[in-house]
Amino acid sequence: MISKKEIQEFLKEIEVDDLIRNVQVMDSTVMIDMLSHSPAMHEKKKLEVAMKSAFEQKYGDEISLKLNILVEVPEQPQIKGTPINGVKNIIAISSGKGGVGKSTVSSNIALTLHSMGFKVGLLDTDIYGPSIPTMFDVENEKPLSVQVDGKNKMKPIESYGIKLLSIGFFAGTSQAVVWRGPMATKALNQMIRDAHWGELDFLILDLPPGTGDIHLSIVQELPVTGAVVVSTPQNIALADVKKGVNMFQMESINVPVLGIVENMAYFTPEELPENKYYLFGKEGAKNMAEKLEVPFLGEIPIIQGIREASDVGRPAVLQENSKVKDIYTKITQNMVEQIVKRNENLPPTEAVKITTMAGCSTN
Ligand code: ADP
Repeated sequence: MISKKEIQEFLKEIEVDDLIRNVQVMDSTVMIDMLSHSPAMHEKKKLEVAMKSAFEQKYGDEISLKLNILVEVPEQPQIKGTPINGVKNIIAISSGKGGVGKSTVSSNIALTLHSMGFKVGLLDTDIYGPSIPTMFDVENEKPLSVQVDGKNKMKPIESYGIKLLSIGFFAGTSQAVVWRGPMATKALNQMIRDAHWGELDFLILDLPPGTGDIHLSIVQELPVTGAVVVSTPQNIALADVKKGVNMFQMESINVPVLGIVENMAYFTPEELPENKYYLFGKEGAKNMAEKLEVPFLGEIPIIQGIREASDVGRPAVLQENSKVKDIYTKITQNMVEQIVKRNENLPPTEAVKITTMAGCSTN
């Protein structure tokens, strides 16, 4: 006969005693009430498997373990910032450098989410080179004003099922926008707060490249669910990826990094589909993700069609049965998986108060 005391000693030995709420021993049956700090099914399952295996190793089939897992989620901090009414997840897509394909990736991910049945908005916050209006073939559109609850709101332009707003609609895409500081922030706030986004599962933010004031004001203003960082495999781009990831992970910002996407990973000529040419180096962004311990969401090769599709205002994933569509489906699925994990384990992201700008350079 095993005593309750013996079981309690064993629970101490396997260092779970602080999670144990009750132990009862009846003949060869041991009943344990155990605490889990996460409501996620997979976490509970993990705990159960680990306990069963520890008991089996120690006692074999001498005893039968009946485990009852109690969920006690630590008190959740208040959401400090102001969420956008009706918007469930806000995803920031960023890059260390310009020209690595951040807007292309934002557009194609937005459209892939839409094709999966989600309601999606895309906010182009890239004040240095707003390219979303061109990519969605709505360069000459101007958002209209609508009355919502007695207030005038800006109505996002809709293209291919995505609700869009961009600084480009107001300043023109060809004009070099030299807005900085308060002016850019004011324009951004208007697109966020004075817009009628309606119900959205995802609002994708196409951030400007780098780590600057705009990034800080966005994470201050909005409860960002998670960030995706886009990079090419080059060393010179990767140094800035690290800066980007570090910015999101700064204690005062604390936006979960959902993962890194490697764009322009390699080139495959159409006539030699088996050949891959690693023009910018091999798996640089993938290795960087490993080093920074953030998920790697996938790689996108250099494909002429991606560039052509963006230029003509019809992003590449809109082409049915294409290789690009398959690649983006995988990447988007990986991203959604990370969002689900994040939402299971963390409270809604707070719109953070930045108390220090340390560690962030200004563009
Ligand atoms: P960023 O937003 O990072 O400045 P863009 O998305 O505007 O970069 O992309 C820069 C250029 O590279 C665009 O002309 C775009 O069409 C092209 N491009 C992006 N990704 C790819 C790719 N995988 N293959 C080919 N061209 C690409």
